[in-house]
This record gives sequence, structure tokens and C-alpha cells, in this order.
Amino acid sequence: MSELTVSRLSKSFGGVRALNDVSFRLEPGELLAMIGPNGAGKSTCFNCINGQLRPDHGSVQFVGRDLVGLAPRAIWRLGVGRTFQITATFGSMTVAENVQMALISHHRRSRALWPLATRLYRDEALGLLESVSMRDQAERRCNVLAYGDLKRVELAVALAHDPRLLLMDEPTAGMAPKERIELMGLTAQIVGDKNIAVLFTEHDMDVVFANASRIIVLNRGEIVAEGTPAAVRANPLVQEVYLGAGSTYKPEARPAHA
Ligand code: ADP
Ligand code: MG
Repeated sequence: MSELTVSRLSKSFGGVRALNDVSFRLEPGELLAMIGPNGAGKSTCFNCINGQLRPDHGSVQFVGRDLVGLAPRAIWRLGVGRTFQITATFGSMTVAENVQMALISHHRRSRALWPLATRLYRDEALGLLESVSMRDQAERRCNVLAYGDLKRVELAVALAHDPRLLLMDEPTAGMAPKERIELMGLTAQIVGDKNIAVLFTEHDMDVVFANASRIIVLNRGEIVAEGTPAAVRANPLVQEVYLGAGSTYKPEARPAHA
């Protein structure tokens, strides 16, 4: 059984077919990149999986369970984690405290315990921070961190929920090219170790080709190519619509929350 099986997913907004009959599978430990021009339907696909949007047609099976119609929180509880384009950490709290908060939430302990319980899940939090190379900044407040470091804390927060599937829509938005490669390289290593399935979008093709185990190319709501990085890179259609001369692809210049 695949971790995630998306079948014939469709979603329209008024006259716009944002997703049209999209099907794919995702296996444990796989890092699947969904690429495509701005407006191709990537975020719509993510939001149909995480419950933010209800698809018009199609099904989303997660470990054999149909997610369509479930509330986002119920889907998250089943083990579908996500990272956010907007930073979702608490700036006035330390790095370690943010991860501890996530662990408290994951274990369904009351947040009311928080003032009494700064030691709660401390070791687990530090272990997660070690895995994202942020252990040495555990006591710093999040609002003084460099942007790339904050992104790594967000990854630790997402991992605190022990997801089986992690959805990362533009996780490296706003980061410098070198940091992008590092963050996704780190992600690849962690999800490989933990056997987590990851679906991510990314505009930097160097990052995609360096880290994805497989790539899906979306254009105007439809899958136009799918395969290994080498196969997708060599696909003439992909080169035409996405990578090559006269490409319709333009790097994003829009708000991070779009
Ligand atoms: P991507 O993430 O690939 O850039 P999106 O999934 O955000 O693409 O958008 C796909 C298409 O659906 C675009 O034409 C976009 O304008 C439209 N769209 C997305 N969300 C909405 C919405 N909430 N209401 C109306 N149109 C939307
Ligand atoms: Mg998007």
C-alpha cells in the first residue's frame, strides 16, 4: 500500500480548472517534487490533500484511508504534517521552547501546563534540534534568528508531530540559493532516516534536481511529465514549457502567503 494515493483529483475555481484529473502515488521515504509554472495548481493540490480545500472530484488515500471531507486538524492528527510558507514559530520563545510546545501539542498535553513545564519534552526537543543542526542555538529566541535558521526550526516543529507524510509547499521561499540546497539536503537526510514520505514544491531547479527522488511536472492543472530527475530533465516537453528557451516559467515575485 502506498503512503499516499491521489486519484483523479479535480478542483475548479469559477471557470479556472486549477486541478484536472491529477493522479499520483507517494511511497515512504520518497521525496517527491511537484514543479510547474506559477498558477499550475501545486498549492491547490497540497490544499486538497491537507483538507484546506475540498476537491470537486477524486480521492486522496492516506495509508488506505480516504481524507476527502476530513477537517485539516483530523488529517494532521492522522500523521500528515506540513511546513508553512509563513513562519509559524513564536518569536518571543526560544528555539527549544517552540519545539517543546509542538511536542506538548503532539502528545495532547494541555498548553495550560506550559508555565509549569519548561522541562517537559526537553530532551526530545534537543534531539530534534540536533537533527536539523540547531542544537547550538536552542536557547536563542526565535525572533533573533537568521531566516534560514528559522526555517530549520520550523522543520523541527513539523517533525515534532511525528508525521508519516510531510507536505512542504515552497519550504525554501525567501532563502538564499545555498541555504535552499542545504535545507532540502537536510530534509532528504532526515526523511530517509525516518522513512517519512515528502511532497514538496520548489522553484529552484538546482534544489529539485539535487534532492528529489522523483518529480511530477504540473502545467495548467494537469500532470505533463513524471519520473526521475534525470528523466524529467531530459523530457522535451518539460524543457519547452518549463526549463528551456521561451519558457513560461518565471521565478516567483509574489507574497510568501500566496
Ligand atoms: P501554484 O501553487 O502552482 O502557483 P495555485 O494552486 O495557487 O498554483 O493556483 C492554480 C490556479 O487556481 C490559479 O489560476 C489560481 O489563480 C487559481 N486559484 C487558486 N486558489 C484560488 C482561490 N482560492 N480562488 C480562486 N482561484 C484560485
Ligand atoms: Mg503555490
